[in-house]
Formats: sequence, C-alpha cells, structure tokens
Amino acid sequence: MNTHQIEVLVVGAGGAGLMAGLYASKTAKTAVISKLYPTRSHTGTAQGGIGAALASQEEDHPEWHTYDTVKGSDYLGDQDAIEFMCEEAVQAIYELEHMGLPFDRTPDGKISQRPFGGHTNNVTGKPVRRACHTADRTGHMILQTLYQQCLKNNVTFYDEFQVVDLIMAGGKAAGVVAVELATGELHVFHAKAVIFATGGHGRIWEITSNAYAFTGDGPAITMRHGLPLEDMEFFQFHPTGIYKLGILITEGVRGEGGILINGKGERFMEKYAPNVKDLASRDVISRAIYLEIRDGNGVNGQNYVYLDVRPEQVNKFAALDGRKNLDGTPLAVTGEQILAKLPDIVDFCRVYLGVDPITQPMPIQPTAHYAMGGIPTNKYGEAIADEKNTIVPGLYAAGEVACVSVHGANRLGTNSLLDLVVFGKHAGLRAAEFAKKADLQPLPADPAAPVRAQFDRIRKADGKENAFDIAVAMKKVMFDDMGIFRSGKGMENALKVVRGLQARFKHVSVTDTGAIFNMEMMNVWELGNLLDLAEVTTVSALARTESRGGHSREDYPDRDDKNWLKHTMAHVDEKGRIELKYKPVVMTKYEPKVRTY
Ligand SMILES: Cc1cc2nc3c(=O)[nH]c(=O)nc-3n(C[C@H](O)[C@H](O)[C@H](O)COP(=O)(O)OP(=O)(O)OC[C@H]3O[C@@H](n4cnc5c(N)ncnc54)[C@H](O)[C@@H]3O)c2cc1C
Repeated sequence: MNTHQIEVLVVGAGGAGLMAGLYASKTAKTAVISKLYPTRSHTGTAQGGIGAALASQEEDHPEWHTYDTVKGSDYLGDQDAIEFMCEEAVQAIYELEHMGLPFDRTPDGKISQRPFGGHTNNVTGKPVRRACHTADRTGHMILQTLYQQCLKNNVTFYDEFQVVDLIMAGGKAAGVVAVELATGELHVFHAKAVIFATGGHGRIWEITSNAYAFTGDGPAITMRHGLPLEDMEFFQFHPTGIYKLGILITEGVRGEGGILINGKGERFMEKYAPNVKDLASRDVISRAIYLEIRDGNGVNGQNYVYLDVRPEQVNKFAALDGRKNLDGTPLAVTGEQILAKLPDIVDFCRVYLGVDPITQPMPIQPTAHYAMGGIPTNKYGEAIADEKNTIVPGLYAAGEVACVSVHGANRLGTNSLLDLVVFGKHAGLRAAEFAKKADLQPLPADPAAPVRAQFDRIRKADGKENAFDIAVAMKKVMFDDMGIFRSGKGMENALKVVRGLQARFKHVSVTDTGAIFNMEMMNVWELGNLLDLAEVTTVSALARTESRGGHSREDYPDRDDKNWLKHTMAHVDEKGRIELKYKPVVMTKYEPKVRTY
C-alpha cells in the first residue's frame, strides 16, 4: 500500500481546488489530487465572466450585488454568506489581476465588465455591467493563472489520481483513498485536513453543458459516510445550450445584445420579463423557452428556439430598448466586434452546428448546467454534519460541490466563478489553520478495505446488465421528469425508475480486467455515484411541495414561504434509506418578495 502524509489535502484542481491549495500552501504542507490533469478541469470551460461590483464603467455596489443574488436565489440563499461573498468579490478580482490574469480592458485601461442575467442597477432595475471577463474564455484564464501560482508556491500535485473514498476516524476527516489511474494501484493519503473541490454532477441529465468528469464523486462519497447533502432538489437549467448537444452558449451573448426569438419570429421574453427581457435570471428564461416550445412556438415545430446575435438584430433591438454605450451613443455592434468578444462561441457554432452566428441565428434549448446543492458548509468552507450546523472536524468543501448556500434555489450567472475564488480561498485558509493545531488521526487497520470491496463487487458481478444502457435510462428519465418543470406524478416515476436502475446496476461488471488506465472500471464506479445522486435529488424534490427557483412544480406552482423557506438536509440512515431534515435560511435584511424581472 502506498501511503502519503500531508497536512492539507485538496481533492480537485478546478478553480476552487487551486484557490484552496494556493492559500493552504502559504502555511501548510499541501497536496492537490485530481482525476484530470488540472488545467482540464471544468472551470476551464467557463465562458462569460466573474461577477464583482467593481463599478469600473458605471455605478455599482456590493449591496446591489448582494440584493440581486438574494433575489436570484428566490430567497433561499443564506444572506450572511451572500453578503460576505459580494463584499469579498471586489478584492478577489484585483487579486486575480495582480496574479497576472489578463482581463479584457476598457479603452482607459480598467477591467472591462459586461451585463449578465439578474444583475441590475437596484435604482433603475436595468441591467448593470458587473461581469469581468476575458473574451468568452474567462474560466480558462482563471484556471491557468491559479495553476501557475500553485506551481510557484510548491503545491504538490497528484495528477490523474481518482479519489474513491474518504477516511473518517472518530467523526473527524483523516484522509482519502485514491486510485492511481496510470497503474491501478490504491494510495492512502493520510491528512490532517481534507478539502473536497470536485465540482458538479450534471451528467445525471441527458442534455447537459457539463463535462464528462462531472459525476459527483465528492458528494456521493461523503453521503456514504452518513454526512448530509443540502438542497439537492435545486439544479439549474441554463437557457441556452446548443440544440441536442447541450454545449453551453454563454449568457454573455445576451449580455452583448443577443436576443431570444421563437418560431413565429417573436422576441418572447418581452412577455415573461418585461423589464430586463433576455437578461432575466436563468430559471425564468428556461421556463419561458419550455413554455414556448410546449405551446408549439418552437422553430419549425421542433424543441428549440433561436438565440440571435446577428449585428443587425442586436442593433435593432438595442435601439428599441434604448440601450446605450457608456458615452451615451446608441449601442451598435459590427460582426468583427461580436467575433472579438465571443470568439469561442462563434467557433463552437461553426464547428458543431455548421451555423455562423454572425449571419445566422443559433438553435438552442435549455441544458442541465449547475448544482446549487451539495456538501453543506459554512462561509469558511467547513463541512457541516447536521441541521444544527455542527462542524465536521478536518473536513472542508468549496466550489460547485459545496452548498454554502450562496446560490439558494437559483444561481446568477458569474457567481460560480466568484464562489470558487472566495470560498476556495477561505476553505484553504481555515484548513491550514486547523492543520497547524491538529494531529493526524489514527488510521483504521486497512483504510482501503471498503474500496477494495466495492471494486471486487463490480469485478465479480454476473455482467447481466450493461452500464451504458443504465446511464441512458437514468439521463432520460431525469431529463423528462426531473427537469425544468416537475410534478408529483413525474417525480414518483423518476424515483421508481432510478431505484430500478440501482438494482440493475448491481449486475454490471467490466470486461477490462487490466490495471492500467482501466477507465471502464472508473466509469462504472462513477455511474454508481450518479445513480445515488439522482435518487437523493428526486427524494428531496418530491418532498418540497412548492415552486422556487430551479425547482418548479406544475402541481404546486407557487412559492410557499410559510412552509418551505428552509434548506433540505438529506442523509442516508443506517438502513440505507434517505432521511430528510431541514434547517432555516439565514436572513439578515432582505425580506422575501415576489420576484419580478
Ligand atoms: C460550459 C460552462 C460554462 C460556465 N460558465 C461560467 C461563467 O461564465 N461564469 C460562472 O461564474 N460560472 C460558469 N460556469 C460554472 C462554473 O464554471 C463551475 O461551477 C465551476 O467552474 C466549478 O469549479 P470547481 O472548482 O468547483 O470544479 P471543476 O473546475 O470542475 O473542478 C473539479 C475538479 O475535481 C476533480 N475531481 C472530481 N472528482 C474527483 C475525484 N473523484 N478524484 C480526484 N479528483 C476529482 C477534477 O479532476 C477537477 O480537477 C460554467 C460551467 C460550465 C459547465
């Protein structure tokens, strides 16, 4: 058995993991383990921007950012944590800038900002420029910058090591077990503090913007240790994925003036969000698209509408909306400018669709995008064990895998990249501080025994079932019955199907018996995680008899603050059943109101 001793161990090398690693490494011996080479993490695909009230081009304030985030969360976000994030945001951006991140600039050299959905001037209610960006490659730049900083700070990397278990000792985190993918060998990482930063689990759904690696390994592992998962029923559908493929078209397209058009050529968001129209929050727009398609207003009767960023359209609607440049001249763009601001989007559409966004509208449909729920933490990234907010000593989580909760029932665009850098940093600082005072916990006699048993079970299964078929069935039922609109009947069906698939999963085996890069084995193990998370998502959703943010029920269409202004805490009991408990939302100064955009 290969055993390593480390003070702070970070699992995941995306934006959250690298930020945590960087900050922990300032005072503690730190290692980052990642199943992907770090710069291949999903953070690198983030396009549109990172939010902060820099006010570099127009009036803005962290309080406005806070209010927009609370409202966007449909009042489920914890307001103390949201205030903290939006206050820290400004400093976080300047820090990234000083690390060398090449943000786009205004002509006078300030960090350029673009409008994004749900971000408003709180006085006029109109969209405000709050998203800092590098063309449509913002996440790529963040990831590269942080990786360089980690290397400079001597963080140790274990690349292409996949963590398959958490080691707990006496209720405290004591390390992890990982598979070295290149050799198939198991490694035990004995650590004083463990930070999970493993990203999301959007591969549960059929149409998704999420990378193949988004299989929810982190929350599936902690759930197996009896730890809770918070607000799993809230999963965001992004309005604009490439039709059928789900590949994301950033909201930055609409920030730059793009508009949504139905099959009748109508700009339908005027009906659903008369004030901010195409820049309403994502849950609102995804539902609008769904309803348009359901009413037969899809393009050519199909399941898609158009996102139109052709310069003549942008200029026409900008004039109608009275959108102006900062110098007061009417907003007007050229094809060259669109290409300069959105090069990757133009490229994706040309390559994957054969559509040129400069001259043709893009066919889009909503795509599963972001996990609002996850491992519950406080605002310092400390994982919590129950609805009383008891801290799990030595365990931390940050980034999409965590639920702080700053996004509540619906995340605003640009707030995830912000969440990564703010809470990644604080998780790293807290973990290092803890590690300085803590001792290594004694390890169990054979820490890898449970993992070996899991893999042996897969190897020895009768092979009557096929992993691919099970994955397809899960993705389909989750997309149909656990998607943008839900109903009791549909969700009961989803739960029945998912549980049936879990039973079939026990028969899945592998044909590859080798040790070296046995990705078949790892993919089967990941499918087990996705099934467990599909189940907990559905159970949490069925219980919530209201509509809020990303959880929209046709049988309970209204938000019910009297009964449901609370976070779900789901955990698996000793008999393997999912038990739901609840904890209150932290309110500071914003009383819940009906959301209008
Ligand atoms: C296409 C796309 C565009 C987006 N655009 C924006 C945007 O413009 N603005 C915004 O704010 N947000 C955006 N988001 C959301 C945001 O990018 C993600 O929520 C965020 O990047 C997640 O970062 P992370 O650090 O939590 O996880 P990731 O960046 O996904 O990193 C996860 C890491 O965990 C590792 N890992 C996972 N499981 C294991 C395991 N078992 N063992 C070891 N390592 C493991 C992976 O190797 C990886 O290094 C976008 C998301 C997508 C999908």
